[in-house]
Amino acid sequence: MRIIKYGALTVAGLLLAAGCGQTPEKKARTAGEKQGGTAAAGKAASAPPARKPESPKPPPPRVVDCVKLKCVALTFDDGPGPYTERLLNTLHAAGARATFFMLGENVRSHEGTVRRMALEGHELANHSWDHPSLTSLSAAGVRSQVQRTQEAIAKASGGVRPTLLRPPYGATNTQVGRAAALPEILWSVDTEDWRYRNVARDTRVGINEPKSGGIVLYHDIHKPSVDSIPKVLEGLKRRGFTFVTVSELFRSQPLKPGKTYTDLAPPKPVKAPTPSAPPSGAPSAPATPGSPTPGPVSPTPGLPLPGTPTVPGTPTVPGVPGTPGVPGVPGVPGTPTPPGR
Ligand SMILES: [Zn+2]
Repeated sequence: MRIIKYGALTVAGLLLAAGCGQTPEKKARTAGEKQGGTAAAGKAASAPPARKPESPKPPPPRVVDCVKLKCVALTFDDGPGPYTERLLNTLHAAGARATFFMLGENVRSHEGTVRRMALEGHELANHSWDHPSLTSLSAAGVRSQVQRTQEAIAKASGGVRPTLLRPPYGATNTQVGRAAALPEILWSVDTEDWRYRNVARDTRVGINEPKSGGIVLYHDIHKPSVDSIPKVLEGLKRRGFTFVTVSELFRSQPLKPGKTYTDLAPPKPVKAPTPSAPPSGAPSAPATPGSPTPGPVSPTPGLPLPGTPTVPGTPTVPGVPGTPGVPGVPGVPGTPTPPGR
């Protein structure tokens, strides 16, 4: 919720951002941020994919069937901050994955934490550079907020480019959607942790309110929020939930840039498949028409996660035997184990 001033590197950031279709490879670690944007971009274009001694790669998203399973996506906004590492310890101990909607300005000072998130299978996502209401900005302003943050996260993580945006305050409109060009993820449970800063309350709400397919909003910059998570995980496990990232949650329903989502809509019995006529004039509703999954889902076409693209070898787990309620719920047998820390 705070807004801090940011400094100089804007221009270089923008230049870099402008040429974004970059591949994970080239990211091995771009040397100092200072090098001129143009020089860096030129290099990226010409240099052969440098085969460096590869650092560990983030595990791919798991294939979890959240249409059948009781899934919940815990999300943490505004960080990383001083409590985020501790939160990662908690999530790791519980075998739970979460999604972090980060501010670009905080990413720069916590690059190691961001890298760790990626390696432990969490989803890295974009929450703007410094938390303005995007609806108050010009299209160029929105693009800048989003792209600078994309760059910062990619740099910190070793190449992971977020595919999701959460607009600060949930404030969005058509212009924001068009300029940001990412699916916009809101939430179904607002814990209001930022308002109450109370562990007992954060815990109670976090355990009791989520429904299957829900997206829960916390802020990892607040200590009480992070303090509440061990109990929240326990309580939700007891209720039979599997903890997934937002992209895992929406595996069956490809997310579209410029659309907003609050949860995984429960499967509609009235869907499309049986009637022979295609849904005519298929209108706007993000959740239904136009979504029939094209083969193996690659969430956002133009924004591949490294090591992710449509993962053919990913274990498919339709029924996920023996998952619900199991303590330690890595929920998904055969899930690639996150490489240590
Ligand atoms: Zn926020």
